[in-house]
Amino acid sequence: MEDRSCPNVNECTANRHFHTKSIRDVFTTLYCEGNFVKCARKKLKDSGNLIPEKLLPNGQYAS
Ligand code: SF4
Repeated sequence: MEDRSCPNVNECTANRHFHTKSIRDVFTTLYCEGNFVKCARKKLKDSGNLIPEKLLPNGQYAS
C-alpha cells in the first residue's frame, strides 16, 4: 500500500499548534496524511527555507 504520510512527520513541530482535536484531525487528514505536497511548511522546507514556528499547513499562522 502506498505511504501517504508526509516524510517530515517525525520531525515536524506543527502539531504543537493544532490546539484542538478537530483542528488536528483536519490538518492531519488534509495535509500530513493526505496532500502533503500542498503544505506550506513542506514547501518551505523543500526549497531550503526556514520554517516559521507558527506557520500552519494552510499558510496561515497559529495564534
Ligand atoms: S505540517 Fe506539513 S510538513 Fe509538517 S508533517 Fe504535516 S504535511 Fe508535513
